[in-house]
Amino acid sequence: MVTSMPDLMELEQARSSGVYLKRDLQIVRGDGAALYDAAGRRYIDCVGGQGAANLGHGHPALIAAIQRQLSDLMACPELFHNPVRARYQDELCRTANMPRVFLCSSGAEAVEAALKFARLTTRRPNFIAAMRGFHGRTMGALSITWEKTYREPFEPLLPGVRHVPYNNLERLAEALDDTVAAVILEPIQGEGGVHPAQPGYLAEVQRLCHERGALLVLDEVQTGFGRTGHLFAYRHDGIQPDLVCLAKSIAGGLPMGAVLIGERVGKIPPATHGSTFGGGPVACAAALAVLDVLQTTNLIERASRLGAAVLDHLHTNRPAGVREVRGRGLMIGLELRGKVAPVLRALQTRGVLALPAGSTVLRLLPPLVISEDDLWQAIQTIEEVVNDAL
Ligand SMILES: *Cc1c(COP(=O)(O)O)cnc(C)c1O
Repeated sequence: MVTSMPDLMELEQARSSGVYLKRDLQIVRGDGAALYDAAGRRYIDCVGGQGAANLGHGHPALIAAIQRQLSDLMACPELFHNPVRARYQDELCRTANMPRVFLCSSGAEAVEAALKFARLTTRRPNFIAAMRGFHGRTMGALSITWEKTYREPFEPLLPGVRHVPYNNLERLAEALDDTVAAVILEPIQGEGGVHPAQPGYLAEVQRLCHERGALLVLDEVQTGFGRTGHLFAYRHDGIQPDLVCLAKSIAGGLPMGAVLIGERVGKIPPATHGSTFGGGPVACAAALAVLDVLQTTNLIERASRLGAAVLDHLHTNRPAGVREVRGRGLMIGLELRGKVAPVLRALQTRGVLALPAGSTVLRLLPPLVISEDDLWQAIQTIEEVVNDAL
């Protein structure tokens, strides 16, 4: 039997499909915004479960909600009613000010559902998405994703997808004809390099969609649940999208996805879509706890304040190795003058874990519960590492 930690890393590598390039680090435990390896070494977590851990690791309210539900009922497909699902759907819809919701199990699955609902409603074939946009790895979500290295090995993909430059209204208006079912955008492009929508852009996209009979789909999979200083990032823009895709932190780290469905979306006939795990009671109990924590604590306001302080600090003291700093709330991107990979390795050596977004952007998605000490410690380490790398 294999028991030693290095052997288990090798074993995992040998048995993995090969799609992940793993770091040389085995994580065994988390607490708030700290992660620990097998030797007990502490790391400041600016990966945040790739955006799925906004409440941090081991949040007591989340654990209690999951444990309570586990012993009552775990598997309950949507051919039955369930009280936890009922409460969650109502709470999410009221909080988001949207009439209906479809529940599923991941971000890509939420995007697939939104594409299908848009076709059902409009009876139009085409979609407009943005250059640098990321929407997931399944065939439909991949078709609207921009990055060629993700897409090209799997072509042919969904026909009729038009990619336009993000934040460019003219090019969008040109592409938005009466064959377009929906325009699909992230309010802040995450994987594509942390690019926020310019003020007024999303409102004007919404106006164009209304004028031309298309739906506006927002992919809030990464930006949702307090990350940017609002429950959802589109609230910075005062708009009301037709479909909103949610996942990542929706259930605090358990797999879950959702699509919020607005008034402009037509009736969705029975049996036209579905998901075995969608609306499962454990995920719903966890997601209810997430909404409760976000609404009864200052975590969202704190994300806004801490994010603004960090961005302000990095703007006024921009390290020489940083070309540009972008973001909102605790979704922060540093466009480096060189490659991000060696910077990530150096940060790991110094006890800070962070994400890339493309080959030259360092991305930070710390749990919103991160202490101010840890956050500033991470920023200071980044400044030192980025300047050393020059
Ligand atoms: C992560 C992500 C997805 C895909 O979510 P999965 O749960 O990995 O399928 C889709 N859209 C955005 C914006 C994301 O950040």
